[in-house]
Amino acid sequence: MNIDEIFKLIPKVDLHCHLDGSLRPKTILDIAQREKIPISDNDLDNFEEKVKVLGNCKSLKEYLNKFTLPIKIMQKEEYIYRVTTELLEDSCKKNIRYIEIRFAPLNHLENGLKPEQVIKTVLSAMDYGRKNLGIMSNLILCILRQEPAEYGIELIKKARKFLDKGVVAIDLAGNESDFPPEIHREAFKLAKEYGFHRTVHAGETGIPENIMKSIKMLYAERIGHGTYAYKDKQITKYLKETKIPLEVCITSNINTSAVSSYKEHPIKRYLDEGIVVTVNTDNTTVSNTDIIQEFKYLVEYQHFNLNDIKKVIKNGIVYSFASKTDKTNLLTEYNSFINNIK
Ligand SMILES: [Zn+2]
Repeated sequence: MNIDEIFKLIPKVDLHCHLDGSLRPKTILDIAQREKIPISDNDLDNFEEKVKVLGNCKSLKEYLNKFTLPIKIMQKEEYIYRVTTELLEDSCKKNIRYIEIRFAPLNHLENGLKPEQVIKTVLSAMDYGRKNLGIMSNLILCILRQEPAEYGIELIKKARKFLDKGVVAIDLAGNESDFPPEIHREAFKLAKEYGFHRTVHAGETGIPENIMKSIKMLYAERIGHGTYAYKDKQITKYLKETKIPLEVCITSNINTSAVSSYKEHPIKRYLDEGIVVTVNTDNTTVSNTDIIQEFKYLVEYQHFNLNDIKKVIKNGIVYSFASKTDKTNLLTEYNSFINNIK
C-alpha cells in the first residue's frame, strides 16, 4: 500500500472543525440566491475565492471575515440541516470516521430561531449521519469571546438538556487578541459543574499565556491550536506533563499568519518533545483544505513519517470526547487497519 492509499483508507478523526467554515461553496451560493442575499459575483469559480482564503490573511481578524456570508445563509432550520449533512458526507469521503463539529448557536438567531432549535437541528443531522452514513459525531458549542459574558452563561444553561445527547463540550472562539480567556471564567465554571467537556482556542495567534489561563481559569481539557506554546518553556513542559492535547490545524495557522509557512510550523517539534498532538482541519472551506491534504503537508514540509501519522490519528481517537462505545469502536477499526498495512 502506498502512502496516498494509506492516507485515504486509514480511519481518521477530526476534533476541530467549524461547521460555518466548512460549507460547500456551491451550497452557499445556492442558498444566497434562494434567499435573495445580494452577492457581487454569481459565477461559482469567482465566488469560491470569496469564501476561501487562498494564501494568507494579515490576521485572524481578517480570516474571521470569511465567515460572514456562511453565517448569513445559516438562519433557517432547513439550511442548517443541509449544511451539517453535507459536511458529514464530505467527511465520509475522506474516511473520517468520527468528527467533533463545532459552531456558535447564537450566530444563527437572525430569523427568529431559538438557540435550542438551532442546536436540535444540527443534532438531528448528526443523527442522520450516524444512521445513514455510518459516521460518528459529537457537537461542541462555541462561546464567542467578543460577546458579553452573560451570553455564554445563558447558552450553557440552555444547552444543558442536550448534554450526553450529542453535545459534549463548550469551546471559546473568536478574536483572541482583544478578548482574553478570563472574561468567560464564570461560563466555563458552570460548564464544568454541569459536566460538559472544555476545549479553548488559545495561543493561536501570538499570546502564549492564554494557554495557561485557559487551562487554569477555564478548565480546558484540550487546547485549540496552541501554536505559540513554544514561546514559553514552562508551557510546553506543562502540556507535556499533563498530557493536555493540542488541536493543531496547520493550514489555518498559515492563513491567519500565525506561522509564516508549513515548514516553520512547530507541530513536529511538539510531537517529538512528547506533547500530545492531534491533526485537524479547522475550516475545510475557508482554509481550502481537507484532512488528507493536511497529512500530505505534514509529510512534505514537516518530515512526518508513517509512525508520526499513526500517532497523531491515535491521539485524536484517545483524546476525543467520544463515548466509551464509540472510542472502543474507533480504536478497533484503527488497530485492524494498522495491523493490515502491507
Ligand atoms: Zn478553530
